[in-house]
Amino acid sequence: MYNAARKEGGLRKLHEAKEQKTGLHGVWEPPVPQMYDVAIIGGGPAGVAAAIYSFRRGMKTVVFEDKAIGGVINDATVVEDWPGIARITGGELGKKFEEHLTSIQGIDLKREFIEKIEKKNDGFSLYSMNGTHYSKTLIIATGCRYKGLGLEKEKNLLGKGLGYCILCDMTELKGKKVAVVGGGNAALNAALHLVGAASKIYLIHRRSEFRADELVQKRVLDEAEKGNITLLLSRNVVDLIGNNKVEGCVLEEVETKKRETLELGGLYLYAGNIPSSSIAGQIGVKTNELGFIQADEEMRTNVEGVFAAGDVTGKKLVLVAAVSQGAIAAMNACNLIKYGK
Ligand SMILES: Cc1cc2nc3c(=O)[nH]c(=O)nc-3n(C[C@H](O)[C@H](O)[C@H](O)COP(=O)(O)OP(=O)(O)OC[C@H]3O[C@@H](n4cnc5c(N)ncnc54)[C@H](O)[C@@H]3O)c2cc1C
Repeated sequence: MYNAARKEGGLRKLHEAKEQKTGLHGVWEPPVPQMYDVAIIGGGPAGVAAAIYSFRRGMKTVVFEDKAIGGVINDATVVEDWPGIARITGGELGKKFEEHLTSIQGIDLKREFIEKIEKKNDGFSLYSMNGTHYSKTLIIATGCRYKGLGLEKEKNLLGKGLGYCILCDMTELKGKKVAVVGGGNAALNAALHLVGAASKIYLIHRRSEFRADELVQKRVLDEAEKGNITLLLSRNVVDLIGNNKVEGCVLEEVETKKRETLELGGLYLYAGNIPSSSIAGQIGVKTNELGFIQADEEMRTNVEGVFAAGDVTGKKLVLVAAVSQGAIAAMNACNLIKYGK
């Protein structure tokens, strides 16, 4: 239960402990919950941009994020399409988002995961393990989580040679045979990042062509020509080998169904996203058949006072789109509060 009573109990105990320690006694009063103007769920690029724009327009603003500020860009090996910075690692860029957000005195940053939301007459209630929060408007910027392969052994091997972030595990991958699964920028950049470190690099993609930027594709093709990356196109990973750690995988050719086995020390999945939109459904926010929140070009959802921004809307799934949508959502949330539209 995420109820206020539990949090209140904890705070009361703290108060009593303080009384004992200091010898000073006073009447304990439960904290008065605040009503925010704009509550932003998610501290990724979309959420950070929304917070900056909302606060600067005079809104009482809160951001909820229980993981790293900057969201999934922290997992990117390299970012080269963020205007103003020619080349930066994802971790460094994530840090910059965090520094910017926390440098603004007045934006409340709550390191909490919002588990439930409810619509009330005067706004919304947000529930986390730490208690209940209230806001007149909501911006849902919860992004996506990584899509797995849907294989039986996957859960067991996650973190044991099977992962979603090459950058995070780089030290363990040195000298090993590593496969990267996916065909977009993130997958290709991850494979490039392994060059010179892994003993063998496979890039596995279920289609016959990559969908990454031409520039990134060219770099991968150059490395493939030099023998540094082995391309395995039109193939699906259909099984994982290993019990306590990844030892290999079984691939199946899409057309011929022919199978082959790869010996591996690591397998990394960059093969799609599942929107983190379940909380939106709790208040009747519409999603499409893939679970992405449906938002108009002003980032409004079908529920008055609820906006969505970034990857959770499925619009483009890149940084610049996420921050732009975060800013638009915030401006419209402010307009709704100030002018009723
Ligand atoms: C490996 C990788 C490499 C990439 N490289 C590039 C690149 O080079 N260039 C580019 O333009 N884009 C890149 N992207 C895409 C880019 O990172 C995303 O488009 C962008 O991060 C989306 O921002 P977002 O704020 O919508 O979502 P996210 O970054 O996913 O952030 C959402 C945040 O919401 C939080 N959250 C979710 N649910 C809750 C909840 N209930 N309560 C509290 N918090 C919650 C999550 O913890 C997360 O931090 C890459 C993505 C990946 C995965």
